[in-house]
Formats: sequence, structure tokens, C-alpha cells
Amino acid sequence: MLGETGYGNRIDPHVHILPPRRMRGLIRWLKKFAPSFVEEDLTAEEALQGLADADISTFFNLVFPLWEEETAELNLWNRDFCSGVPGAIPFGSVHIETPDKAAETERCIVQYGFAGMKLHPYAQRFDAFAPEMRGLYEVLDHYAKPLLVHTGYDVFYGQEQDRSAMEETFRRYPHIRVVLVHSLFPEFELASRWLQEFPQLYLDMTNVFSSLRVFKQGAYSGVLVGPEEFPADLQMIEDNYPAFERLFEDFPERIIYGSDYPVGMGRHEQLHEDMAFFELPPETERRLLFTNARCLLAETGYSG
Ligand SMILES: [Zn+2]
Repeated sequence: MLGETGYGNRIDPHVHILPPRRMRGLIRWLKKFAPSFVEEDLTAEEALQGLADADISTFFNLVFPLWEEETAELNLWNRDFCSGVPGAIPFGSVHIETPDKAAETERCIVQYGFAGMKLHPYAQRFDAFAPEMRGLYEVLDHYAKPLLVHTGYDVFYGQEQDRSAMEETFRRYPHIRVVLVHSLFPEFELASRWLQEFPQLYLDMTNVFSSLRVFKQGAYSGVLVGPEEFPADLQMIEDNYPAFERLFEDFPERIIYGSDYPVGMGRHEQLHEDMAFFELPPETERRLLFTNARCLLAETGYSG
């Protein structure tokens, strides 16, 4: 189990509580390829109860518009939703077609007081590191606010990211703490190299422990092997495994662990067991579950 850490009072830096229509869509999407532990008509109140039942006292609530027209209303929704929920920490988002990304980002950070921004380039279907996105990066860099950006699971999504554009962005905007959500799964050698080179980068292990546990136990799920037209290179996962283990020795202060609740690879208890499978030192577990995400917020001036 969890060694000395227990389950209580932890922070979950990766939660999606969305407006009803989007929540239904997200859960329906998950059900296409994985069993869901929640119903399609899950309400925000039920989701909050699920977090409370898992002793999550604080969570990052992440929204992302699938088309430009919903951008402003989704950010507004997240502001209103989080303002009524103690411990809910809002992150905003933009779409690549948002005409003035700097203005929308500024609104989220300054006017709404959001902790940072989130992009999910695969679900949103655009390049998060394209030159058109610079308005967002300039504002985040100016205020030194974090960006959470989906990385990895390329096989599962059948998409790839431009590595050189990513590096260029890290170089150009060094004041943005960038959280590589899903830790570039399974490219942990690259993750390690980047964390070495760019001190502002963090990793979020959401879904990674569960995926690697499945891999270690030889039961390959759809998340690992991907669709037929874009099969996984299981050898690549194997080759990157030593680098995965070293991450916790080399960068224990820069790794966080979220759940993707309510569309993750299991309930919180299951996800804890998946992490415990790797027998990290108790101090490292504590950092992943409690300390690091709070430090990230404190260091980027989020006061709630
Ligand atoms: Zn997510």
C-alpha cells in the first residue's frame, strides 16, 4: 500500500469537472475503449463527492475548449464553479482559433485569478506549440504562471508533437513552469533530458503508473497498444523503463501525480495501488501526492 503516506488530505493536480454536456461527452468517449467507473450523467456534485470520498481536499480543475466558440464560456464556467468549491483550483484554456489568446489568458490569470492554463493538443486537435499560440505563452511568461500541457500517449491518440517546437518554446519562455502531463509517456529518456536542461519543467505521472503496471504484468491494454493503424512500439516502453525509474531519484521535487478523475484509469484507491506497485521511497510518494503540487502553486503565486 502507501507506506507512511496514507490516503488522506491529498492534492489531485489533474481533475476534469466540466459543464454537463461536456462531462457527458468525455465519459462517453472514455467508455468507447475502457470500462468507466462513473455514469455518463455524472453531475458535478457527484464528482465532488467522489473526490471527497477519496480524501482529496484540493484539486486542479482543468477545462479545455474543443472549438473556439466555447472558450470564453468554459473559462467563465470554471471560474464560477471553482469559486463555490473550497479546494478547487481553476485552470483556464484557449483554442488555437481564439482570436486574441493573450487577452483571454490575461482575463483568466488576472481577472479570474486562475492558477494557470491548460492545453490538451490531442483532444483539442491543434499544435500547442505552434507560433499562433504565442499570445498565451507571452502572458504566462510575463506573470510566471504555469502551463499544464498534455504530452505522450502518442500511440493511443494516433498523434505526435513537434519536439523541436516544444524545446524552442521552453527556451523562449523560461519563466513558465511547464507541466508535461502524462510525462511524455513512454519517452522517459527524453523527459529526463529535458528536465535536466530546463529547470522550469515538471512531470505529471497521471496514467503513467497504471500503464506501466499493466505493461510490467504483460497485460497489454488498448492504452498501450493503440489502434491497429498506429500500433505501439512495446520495445520503446521497455527501452525507456530504466529512465522512468531514474526520474524519481533525479527529480523527486519536480514530479506530481494526478488522476484524470473522473476519466482516469481507475478510482483513486486503484491509482494509489498502481503507484505503490513501484515501491518508491515513502518520502518520494509523499512529494508526489502532497508536497510538489502545493510547492508549484506557492512558487507561482497562487493564493486561492
Ligand atoms: Zn486529463
